[in-house]
Amino acid sequence: MRVLIISDIHANLAAFKAVLADAEGQWEQIWCLGDIIGYGPNPNECVSLLREQDHISLSGNHDWAALGKLDISSFNRVARLAVTWTKSQLTSESIDYLNTLPAHIEQPLFTLAHASPRQPVWEYILDAETAAVNFDYFKSPYCFIGHTHVPVVYEADEDKYVSARPLNYDAPLQLTSRRCIINPGSVGQPRDANPDAAYALLDTELLTWQHKRTPYPVTKTQALMRENKMPDRLIERLSYGW
Ligand code: ZN
Repeated sequence: MRVLIISDIHANLAAFKAVLADAEGQWEQIWCLGDIIGYGPNPNECVSLLREQDHISLSGNHDWAALGKLDISSFNRVARLAVTWTKSQLTSESIDYLNTLPAHIEQPLFTLAHASPRQPVWEYILDAETAAVNFDYFKSPYCFIGHTHVPVVYEADEDKYVSARPLNYDAPLQLTSRRCIINPGSVGQPRDANPDAAYALLDTELLTWQHKRTPYPVTKTQALMRENKMPDRLIERLSYGW
């Protein structure tokens, strides 16, 4: 099966639509790794558009926060403002749907977790050391995560030494017997100094993974955020991808 892997849409409908257009005809099912909402101006529209697709999805920390399932006192000020705004917007349909989503899914070949296999909702895997510890927390050869908004492939060699592989947007990565933890990056709020929406294409038979980027109308999302008086910091970061 060909799978469109997406994560951290964060209520950015323009970015989500751009990814679906860019990947059109190249997948049969979406695997969404959570944080569908939070930060962006279109939470309900993003939930609806996802539900129109053949998909499975996880929930992330921002989804949990908007559902009131998470204490947000450790969120920074702008993230807390975004949660409060998102909560005020969510329809009962969106709430009911988000409440059905698991924080992680284990399949024989692939484990899906929003944040990490060790702590599916919270932990940030931002370096090879943290990734290395997490290899003991899933059984499948491969694990896909989101949460950091930074695309990366952590690979464990025969001696269980873990390192990040250089990213290649031009050719697919062939998955091998080496175990990996892979992050496709974020659709709606990239944080790797590239403002283009990030996603990936997985072929579960050929075992190939292709990192992808596509530009989207950033100013359209920013204008909607301004209209809704969302924090400047959240609006500006979309221009730069930080
Ligand atoms: Zn996120």
